[in-house]
Amino acid sequence: MTYEQSPWSLTDLFPSLDSAALDSGFKQLENCVAEFEKFREDLKPEISAEHFMTILREAEEITRVVYRLYGFAGLSFSADTQNQAAQGLQSRVQQFGAELQNRMLFFDLWWKYLDETNASRLLDASGDFRYYLEALRLFKLHTLSEAEEKIINIKNVTGINALTTLYDSITNRYTFKLEVNGETREMTRGELMSYARHSDPDLRASAYRELYRVYSESGPILGQMYQTSVRDWRNENISLRKYANPISARNLGNDIPDDVVDTLHDLGHKNAGVFQRFFKVKARLLGMERLRRCDIYAPVSKSDKTYAFDDAAKMVLDSFNQFDPKFGALAKRVFDENHLDSEVRKGKRGGAFCWTVGPDLTPWVLVNYQGQADDAATLAHELGHAIHAMLAEHHSIFTQQACLPLAETASTFGEMMLIDRLMAQESDPALRRDMLFRQIDDSYATIMRQAYFAMFEKQAHEMIQNNASVDELNSAYMENLKDQFGDSVELSDEFKWEWVSIPHIYHTPFYVYAYAFGQLLVLSLYQQFKAEGESFKPRYIRILEMGAAESPEKILQKAGIDIHSAAFWQGGFDVINGLVDQLEKL
Ligand SMILES: [Zn+2]
Repeated sequence: MTYEQSPWSLTDLFPSLDSAALDSGFKQLENCVAEFEKFREDLKPEISAEHFMTILREAEEITRVVYRLYGFAGLSFSADTQNQAAQGLQSRVQQFGAELQNRMLFFDLWWKYLDETNASRLLDASGDFRYYLEALRLFKLHTLSEAEEKIINIKNVTGINALTTLYDSITNRYTFKLEVNGETREMTRGELMSYARHSDPDLRASAYRELYRVYSESGPILGQMYQTSVRDWRNENISLRKYANPISARNLGNDIPDDVVDTLHDLGHKNAGVFQRFFKVKARLLGMERLRRCDIYAPVSKSDKTYAFDDAAKMVLDSFNQFDPKFGALAKRVFDENHLDSEVRKGKRGGAFCWTVGPDLTPWVLVNYQGQADDAATLAHELGHAIHAMLAEHHSIFTQQACLPLAETASTFGEMMLIDRLMAQESDPALRRDMLFRQIDDSYATIMRQAYFAMFEKQAHEMIQNNASVDELNSAYMENLKDQFGDSVELSDEFKWEWVSIPHIYHTPFYVYAYAFGQLLVLSLYQQFKAEGESFKPRYIRILEMGAAESPEKILQKAGIDIHSAAFWQGGFDVINGLVDQLEKL
């Protein structure tokens, strides 16, 4: 069979955007929630474990339907961000979701404040829900009254959520112009940025110039949107919820102790030299005095080898199969059920993601496949996410999806398996060297780049609290880049706008350190896999199968990893250091 690029099918969720089934979905929810509200009377400390579980199962069922509606709206919007029906449905679901959340809030609040003795009695009977319930209680100190929580939920719909949707709508409709072979072409950001890895240095420079020309035109407005979102974060998390600092709110959500995140950031800073050394090797091999920022993803060999989608799909599936036939079969389910949108289309969301709707549905995957080795790696990455979710599909909807720091485990591991496979297939030393470079390029992009984004976010949150202007944020961003690159890379002025082009810092403040966490973790796991072979696999699969049924700390403890240990994280950097050593000898 031949795999072809196509949009996905969402009919496993709903037949269409104008389907009557959507209205029934909303009605069904309305009824379920009305039933759920009757449980309010029953919430006494001495409630029987049996009745407590009935309430939880009802909440699970409601969440299942909500996730379907959210999924359908969000996926439809991603497939066509300019589609007004999709936009409309998304707003409707968000509004409805917030109202439901408010009506059900009493349960979470009651649970958070329940006395220890009764909480532990109910936890013992809660089976797979246990960690979900434990994690809720972590937020006890940062939870407000029911009335206050309700107001925040309602105001978020038309406040911060609307702001980030606007950011998406504005930036997703950007088009970019680039002259390629004497012909000026109009393209999406994804298409434009594929030239960041082009062998022609002028094209690379023009692509970045064009990217930031477009972003800088609305830079002050995008910057203002960011300032607003940061203020919103502070008002809620520091002023109202009393977190010690802005990042702590994310850390608690991730259930990662603050000290672990600090260790990660310190090590990122300490190891900046590893990547600086890499950029110098790269400059030497490219015959350049010094790399410009637009050259850091330049291919070292002159090859712009591309892979037909069918070949890429088969390579990815094969590499999963080789690791474990179960992995291959799960990835294939995404193709077989037509849950993959692989085309490049105008209006379609850029980049790539995997969206898990719930344990009873195969996840949906979006990529913008354009034929480069990198695109094949992205496909492996997103399918890795899907496999992770499917390995954990025996859990409840509350405990299936790994929390952020572990969310990148199977994806990055999948990507590394694909690269190993490509390496094994290539006999040409130049291409092999290119792949080695690509691997470190990727480590740079997921570890160092993200660690420095996170450092910038921390700084920006402080600066905005002190009324910093967009220009001042631009300058701080340039300083951040200088610290990151040292004397190894030349920076041109337009890069001061890079931060306004990073959707993550708008959507999910402090998300990005999870990438560094995940990648370093996987580098270390991958080393273990190579050293141990078969005996490693059950331990790794166990991590994935746990989903979110335990804290990341405990899940990793079971695999013999202590996340508080600086030496463990340094181990990940040492792997990269070793790769750079190899390159220096070439
Ligand atoms: Zn990912």
